[in-house]
Amino acid sequence: MTFIHTPPDKQSILRWLLSEDPAEIAELWALADATRKKYVGDQVHLRGLVEVSNRCERNCLYCGIRADNRELQRYLMLSDEILACAHKAVEVGFGTLVLQAGEDSSIEAQWLADIIRQVKEETDLAITLSLGERSDEDYQLWHAAGADRCLLRFETGNRELFDRIHPPLAGQSSDRLAILARLREIGYEIGSGVMIGIPGQSYESLADDIDRFRSLDLDMIGVGPYIPHPDTPLAGIGNRWDLPKGEQVINSVELGYRVIALARLVCPQANIPSTTALATLDGPVGRELGLQRGANIVMPNLTPLKYRQMYEIYPAKAASTEDAEQSCAAALRQIRALGRTVGTGRGDSPNLHKSI
Ligand code: SAM
Repeated sequence: MTFIHTPPDKQSILRWLLSEDPAEIAELWALADATRKKYVGDQVHLRGLVEVSNRCERNCLYCGIRADNRELQRYLMLSDEILACAHKAVEVGFGTLVLQAGEDSSIEAQWLADIIRQVKEETDLAITLSLGERSDEDYQLWHAAGADRCLLRFETGNRELFDRIHPPLAGQSSDRLAILARLREIGYEIGSGVMIGIPGQSYESLADDIDRFRSLDLDMIGVGPYIPHPDTPLAGIGNRWDLPKGEQVINSVELGYRVIALARLVCPQANIPSTTALATLDGPVGRELGLQRGANIVMPNLTPLKYRQMYEIYPAKAASTEDAEQSCAAALRQIRALGRTVGTGRGDSPNLHKSI
């Protein structure tokens, strides 16, 4: 029988999120896996993650590297260290380097452009940036230097909640959806996503966000459970922002899988990682279940071990003590155990050249 994909509308998304029927949930996993197989195939692409800097000028209420967290030793990697990570990525067979950092204006735009250019001259790696809200000029400069993709989660589409957990910087409220549109115009492949289970987030709002993935026509989608960090204000808030009974999203790892599965159904050709937050909450099986429920990307961490513990956006981040070889070997084992193949080449999003 030919498999026909019908993307769910918002009401169906909400129903899947709230369902307590095991048969319905099993159907969701099966649909997401079949959709993944049909539209992006069995290849799992590996992205090497490099956490370039844990300095951050923002004070997001959820994030362990927020400016006011004085418990953290801060770092900015040296350019030679970043280049060494790029060569390590090539050595272990990855097609993409992801450069992630807090919002750090000491990451000087020209300095990073020179690194991007050098990586592109010396390797065939695609480069993804996850550096937060920088100016259009900076993003243009980095694109001209060779950066290919940008990740910027909108975290929640509820404006009031977003402003509450992501306080404006210098009095200027952020509009991440507008930034994503500009990044697309500049020529980047764009990725976004949300945290799941933020205090004050309702199921209705989460369903809106998943539906929004479709209208944003995302090439990449990164979603993961919100994990409280004890040195952040949101951890202390607990459920004081509780919505009326039944409306607050209850954070569970299973819900994380549901959101990955639904993201696959609404954006069948997007690249979707099985995220570290899932592996943190569910152990190694977390990554595997993500891959069986819609995901097709894994992002092993290539950050040098001496910095790894300092990039603590939430506690006990999975694999924060594994070196690059160990993270990579674990990922390869898991992919093969699932009967999937390791992606070759850059692993660009099929969404860019879509056929539906
Ligand atoms: N500064 C950039 C930005 O804000 O997009 C990139 C770095 S930021 C640390 C990367 C992502 O980490 C955020 O988009 C957020 O979704 C996630 N994150 C931060 N704190 C988290 C937490 N406590 N639990 C789960 N995810 C978290």
